[in-house]
Amino acid sequence: MSYHLLGSVAILLIEFTMSAAAEPWSAPNVVLGIHGGTSGRRAELNAELDQALRADLTRALESGHAALSRPQGTPLDAVEAAIRVMEDSPHFNAGKGAIFTREGRNELDASIMDGKTRAAGAVGFVTTIKNPITAARAVMEKTKHVLLVGPGAETFAEQIELEIVAPEYFRTERRWEQHQRELREETARTRSAQMRDVASEPWSTVGAVALDGAGNLAAGTSTGGTSNKLFGRLGDSPIVGAGTYADNESCAVSGTGRGEFFIRWAVAYDIGALMKYRGMSLAAAADEVIMHKLKPAGGDGGVVALDSQGNFAAPYNTPGMHRGWITRDGKIHVRLCDE
Ligand code: ASP
Repeated sequence: MSYHLLGSVAILLIEFTMSAAAEPWSAPNVVLGIHGGTSGRRAELNAELDQALRADLTRALESGHAALSRPQGTPLDAVEAAIRVMEDSPHFNAGKGAIFTREGRNELDASIMDGKTRAAGAVGFVTTIKNPITAARAVMEKTKHVLLVGPGAETFAEQIELEIVAPEYFRTERRWEQHQRELREETARTRSAQMRDVASEPWSTVGAVALDGAGNLAAGTSTGGTSNKLFGRLGDSPIVGAGTYADNESCAVSGTGRGEFFIRWAVAYDIGALMKYRGMSLAAAADEVIMHKLKPAGGDGGVVALDSQGNFAAPYNTPGMHRGWITRDGKIHVRLCDE
């Protein structure tokens, strides 16, 4: 072989290795993926919260997997079941444990989408529905609408006999202290004329994506929004195409992060669109949107995404993101923060 030919082979090999190494992380054979929101670094997490989060994420995966494994179980059942576990836990910014608005209220948003039919349902600004994800699913299945907000959504939930709680149910001391601290920090920043919009504590919104044996996908997201949000503010979580999207022809996505950016960049939809129209892999499309579009724009956040082959991606451009996934054989994986 001539030196010239050897050189070309070597270059080809290097290019192949580099492009293989450049493909972003994804896991195969996944049937359910969840996130517990953006976070700080693992080293900053106290041992108690670390244990509690791991236990909650594991229970959410088990519950979602059990729902999917039932004879008539669907990906929607899995998404709803997994999210309900996290809504009921005080450790996430969804359901109980939600962050506070500037006025000291808990206002919750959620959405769900079926990748097979592209049916979707969502609720926003709700303050008395114990499990907003179940209300979102009911909007999808029992009304001709996609999004119900505020008192109307609550009346609907009452009419169909969903579990209703007093607004105080959602309050936790940890989140109240965070709210007070952030109000103080905001005042200090205003005084020093440094109006940086920084979340001093991670918000921990929750979401799930699921797949059945026939290639059907579903996605859902539930949140209390961003801390000290203004009255009437809706984020991306109840907005189909922004915080949640599912389409069997591309993927299912649930996002977490600064919702205003997820809305403006149509994040969840854009990941699917890159797959569908540009032929990108799930991992490459999710990486492109989170790391190369959102990050330079200042949009902090991440997603969990699943395609109909069972490939799972979970990119984030924040210091960390709580996440977990379960493979077809039932093996559970949980990662906190930047693990
Ligand atoms: N995306 C959510 C919102 O903007 C917040 C979060 O993900 O933590 O409402």
